[in-house]
Amino acid sequence: MSRRVLILGGTTEATALCRALALDDRFAAVLSLAGRTLHPVLPPGPYRIGGFGGAAGLAEYLRAGAFDILIDATHPFAVRISANAAQAAERAEIPLLAIHRPPWQAQAGDRWTEVPTMHAAAMALGDPPRRVLLTVGQLDLLPFAARPWHRYVLRSVDPPPADILPDAPRILARGPFTVDDEHALLRRHATEIIVTKNSGGTATQAKLHAARALGVRVVMIARPSVPDVVAVPDAARAVAWLRDHDARLRGV
Ligand code: NAP
Repeated sequence: MSRRVLILGGTTEATALCRALALDDRFAAVLSLAGRTLHPVLPPGPYRIGGFGGAAGLAEYLRAGAFDILIDATHPFAVRISANAAQAAERAEIPLLAIHRPPWQAQAGDRWTEVPTMHAAAMALGDPPRRVLLTVGQLDLLPFAARPWHRYVLRSVDPPPADILPDAPRILARGPFTVDDEHALLRRHATEIIVTKNSGGTATQAKLHAARALGVRVVMIARPSVPDVVAVPDAARAVAWLRDHDARLRGV
């Protein structure tokens, strides 16, 4: 009998894990997405979309679906769902594994200002008007709208609300991006500062290489803290953990 695995996703790691488990009949995985993006990347296999109604709702969903394992493969900045996952796994009395992708680290030549919040990121732009590339997603723009004298370019997967920074050019794009493309983008807009969350991973890392090469400043929003749970850094190690777990339970 296959072990039922619920994967909380919205990340490249979740998609990769779904693809790997689709080929392994020891597991029957279901992917869960919040429903934030208009055209999500859907891997093979079953999926569901939408919130559960907090930790209690997620625990109930796990019980009702007779899930054996919960995987939190959500984005490092998705703190509410990660907290809910920790509580729900405990209530449903099933193991939880998180995928915590390592944060980016500043390297020689980087000009980073590390800040703890989106508000602090907006403040770190300073008072003189700057040309700023915002890559923080379409839902986190309000602190920048409060500092409208900067010349912003907004890049996000889905369109930002029309009434936020309405005059700022919008670039709708989903990674992975190449260093050459990022280089060209920064030059085209004469970008002085990039604002980004410290998401980690490779899909959106090229902008940091391009910024280093061009001497562009980066305002880097630090990771929020997440529950201290059993974690691995990537999808391949999540697959290995699942196989070990399965082997232990089978006594092999
Ligand atoms: P969040 O603030 O932690 O979660 C808000 C609520 O959205 C949760 O309480 C939950 O609703 C629902 N939710 C979140 N992830 C879900 C999932 N995978 N399946 C079902 N419901 C989910 O999350 P967020 O920062 O808005 O992120 C939403 C999604 O976008 C996540 O899947 C995340 O992996 C992805 N994402 C986020 C970012 C980012 O920067 N935050 C970047 C890229 C991708 P209920 O309480 O009703 O269950």
